[in-house]
Amino acid sequence: MPAVYSTGLKRLISCNSLQLTSRIQRSHHLLSDGYPACFAAQRTRLRGSIKDVPRTSIAKFKRHILEQKHYQSKLLMFSTTSMLLNREVPLTSEQYPSLKRGNFGSVEADDVSFFESILPGRVVTERDELEGANTDWLRICRGQSKLLLKPKTTEEVSKILQYCYKRSLAVVPQGGNTGLVGGSVPVFDEIVISTALMNEIRDFNQLSGTLTCQAGCILENLDQFVQKQGYTMPLDLGAKGSCHIGGNVATNAVLANGEVFNGLTTLRKDNTGYDLKQLFIGSEGTLGVITAVSLLCPPNHNL
Ligand SMILES: Cc1cc2nc3c(=O)[nH]c(=O)nc-3n(C[C@H](O)[C@H](O)[C@H](O)COP(=O)(O)OP(=O)(O)OC[C@H]3O[C@@H](n4cnc5c(N)ncnc54)[C@H](O)[C@@H]3O)c2cc1C
Repeated sequence: MPAVYSTGLKRLISCNSLQLTSRIQRSHHLLSDGYPACFAAQRTRLRGSIKDVPRTSIAKFKRHILEQKHYQSKLLMFSTTSMLLNREVPLTSEQYPSLKRGNFGSVEADDVSFFESILPGRVVTERDELEGANTDWLRICRGQSKLLLKPKTTEEVSKILQYCYKRSLAVVPQGGNTGLVGGSVPVFDEIVISTALMNEIRDFNQLSGTLTCQAGCILENLDQFVQKQGYTMPLDLGAKGSCHIGGNVATNAVLANGEVFNGLTTLRKDNTGYDLKQLFIGSEGTLGVITAVSLLCPPNHNL
């Protein structure tokens, strides 16, 4: 067990139980001193949940103690989370030895130089920053990528993929890295293509409510933007503060060989050929890198 985790957790637990004990004791003390239970509870910061407690009801006071226990279990959950955060995440390839690396090329110094030439200052090889891109949100999967690329435009993504296709280098697209199934992180040494810098809002149509933006826009930022125009985003989830719209949906994409597929039409009824963009929805990066999205925002009737 890493030292940092054991000391951190011990300190947290002892500090939590100290606080809890003193709160419960204080409540007892206040009650025995003739203070109304609700007042005692107020002093223990549980005001919201027991504001209607009759003044000297013992039953309600028992409930108050139970709520303290609930609070304690919440703190225990918090302790467990911090334990998970500090633990070393095992490599995915070691957890699943049956997984075999495909017959792909390996990243060489010349490859890094090429990427530097097309993405100056946006090629990451430092261990610390790579650690975040290699590890998933739940901290259950860890890859071994040695390269993180941060393109800003569809053209840059196209150049990256053309090159990787020729060199047979494996890639994994990554948005906000909030996915819960390990799809956003490498399994072996795939190159991570992050959409973090593809965060430009291109167009918003006030009449139709259609929004066109780059794939790396954070869902919450988009929602704040369309709310100001009297609209709302058609989706909402707990990870909205970090997940990217490209990780949520899909339309304009760069295929694995670098070819650009443009499915960014905002026409409601568009029957010109196959609706290929539907294939990208839920594709989890297996068909190409989504670089931009257009979607229809419903009006916000709560305004
Ligand atoms: C607190 C919390 C609450 C959540 N709630 C929900 C929920 O209610 N509903 C739900 O469905 N999910 C939920 N999730 C899971 C996750 O947030 C969503 O799946 C989200 O859509 C992932 O977006 P992301 O930008 O973080 O994508 P990532 O996690 O970065 O990637 C997810 C997958 O999409 C691929 N991908 C990412 N960007 C691109 C791109 N530009 N082009 C091609 N492929 C790409 C990745 O390779 C990966 O396979 C939640 C997660 C958290 C942490």
